[in-house]
Amino acid sequence: MKLIQLVAALAVPFLLGLASGRAGSAAETVKPTKVLLGVFAHPDDETVCAGTLARAAAGGWEVRVIFATSGDAGEDVSGRKLKGAALGQEREREGTSALVALGVKRPPTYLGFGDGTLAKVQPQVTDRLMKELAGLKADVILTFGPDGFTGHADHIAVGKATAPCPGTACVNLKACTPGHGGYTA
Ligand SMILES: [Zn+2]
Repeated sequence: MKLIQLVAALAVPFLLGLASGRAGSAAETVKPTKVLLGVFAHPDDETVCAGTLARAAAGGWEVRVIFATSGDAGEDVSGRKLKGAALGQEREREGTSALVALGVKRPPTYLGFGDGTLAKVQPQVTDRLMKELAGLKADVILTFGPDGFTGHADHIAVGKATAPCPGTACVNLKACTPGHGGYTA
């Protein structure tokens, strides 16, 4: 329940921006499709702003998503006891399927950094993300704020790596429920 409330809290103000951006003159209708980019640490982080991603995709935005890791250090709760690379592959499949369900047409990009290692390789993460962002030329980036949403070091590292991107509106996903109950990174 808390997650649902949080998604709604995050989505509403942002969607107001999307709606106002679409109501424009005839000249605006010939502009290239706007790009919304989600930059996350792990497959399943997209759930934090799933409503916003779905609404943007339905509204004609090109939605792109980057996951810095494949979630290979997570816990397998499926009962199959997957670990390491096998778990990462399964989480990639899940992440890709989740985005399809949200109406995102483009498959996500997985950068392949080790789950739980991003803060230790911050310069490499920043360098790689800057290259990805330069190619995508996103109009809006959704990523983690300085608190990492849950305080997870990977989240913080991704937000830090994305922050310097010039010329792009950056919407930080901030934790706004005390204790962040109901959501695990
Ligand atoms: Zn996460």
